[in-house]
Amino acid sequence: MITEYRTYINPSKVYIPITDSEYKMANVKVAVGDRVLIGEKLAEKFKGKNKSPVLSTVSGKILEFKDMIDRYGKVVDHVVIENDKLYEKFQHKTFEHSITTAEVRNVINNLGLNKISVDGIFTNLDFNAKSKYVVVNAMFTNEPFISTDYEFLIKHSAEMADGIELLSIAANAEKTIILVDKFMPEEALLELGKEIVEKDIEVITIDSKKVNAKDYKIIKNLVNETLSVNLVDNGVVYTEIGAAKMLHDAVRLGVPVVTRKVAITGDALNINAVYETRIGTRFTELVEDLGGYSEIKNMNLHIGSFLTGIQLDSDDFAITQTVDSVNVAEYRGVDEDVCIKCGDCNDICPAGILPQNIMDAELRSVNSRIVELNTDECVECGLCTYVCPSKINVLEWVRRAKRRVG
Ligand code: SF4
Ligand code: SF4
Repeated sequence: MITEYRTYINPSKVYIPITDSEYKMANVKVAVGDRVLIGEKLAEKFKGKNKSPVLSTVSGKILEFKDMIDRYGKVVDHVVIENDKLYEKFQHKTFEHSITTAEVRNVINNLGLNKISVDGIFTNLDFNAKSKYVVVNAMFTNEPFISTDYEFLIKHSAEMADGIELLSIAANAEKTIILVDKFMPEEALLELGKEIVEKDIEVITIDSKKVNAKDYKIIKNLVNETLSVNLVDNGVVYTEIGAAKMLHDAVRLGVPVVTRKVAITGDALNINAVYETRIGTRFTELVEDLGGYSEIKNMNLHIGSFLTGIQLDSDDFAITQTVDSVNVAEYRGVDEDVCIKCGDCNDICPAGILPQNIMDAELRSVNSRIVELNTDECVECGLCTYVCPSKINVLEWVRRAKRRVG
């Protein structure tokens, strides 16, 4: 249980990975000994023809390049920067009022905001000719323990509303929708309502206590077609309201994302807390700040949502802009039962594919069947795992199948 809210935004060093799970190649733009400013480009990473900048989150000196595991558990090169704690900023271009679609998209690319997605739950801020809809999730239900997000929403609702409008401009959207939780605190609802009342934004209320992929169903009805892994291919930009605030800061103030909120929980820690921390901070420093680990035998570290997140073997990784929560707990083996072919996972799948059949094909290594079952359309929502009465991690089997034919 979260017992504290803390800030840890002045680490003496930051560790910034120059590639990630999607952008696997990079051109480095700095050398050891260089001085950089906040927001200055350290590298440019690539995914095919797409480029994304890797920006510094502090001002200071480049100390070294170091191999470390990243938040996906892969060993990648990190730029290590000594924080001079002067926090001098590189001045990116700002826009006060009117702005064109191309200009918003440029800001998103130049400040590296296109990579704001969490464990595949939301799409990247990416656009194509089909872009028509913007759907912004203001529900905070993936990590229900981060109740502080509603406080953040109350404080920054004007910036968030502006960010949603900027997203609509970037997408050339015909329709913009915001999803709110039926149980959203009244004050948050009032503040947000006040800011969007004059704007062309539709509000849809969802009962978060019913886990039924309502958001994906709403999106499916909107586009009236089968959903792709990347909703951008359906013409939808699906993101969360924090990303709207980040876009506001980038466009109006020229500020990239340098800090983020991370919930750190689990019985391996004496204190559980939500941190406002600087991107690039080593996770082990936050653990130290919490008074270290409690005595447990087999530690299990999990980044992100329990349904769709990633388990790591080591705690020596740095916080990136896609780390929203870390749970460190005693390993509890789950007794999986055999599949009873109840079909619940197939029924709930919002992508309209058949996870049970995919799992079966993966177990039997039948590549052609995996392709035939449109495995690549899985959006990794984790609902198949959630509903399985036999406690089978169905998503993991689907992921393996995807990797086999991908
Ligand atoms: S994670 Fe499971 S339920 Fe969700 S889209 Fe993939 S197969 Fe379907
Ligand atoms: S929900 Fe579980 S038990 Fe039921 S068909 Fe799917 S994998 Fe098998």
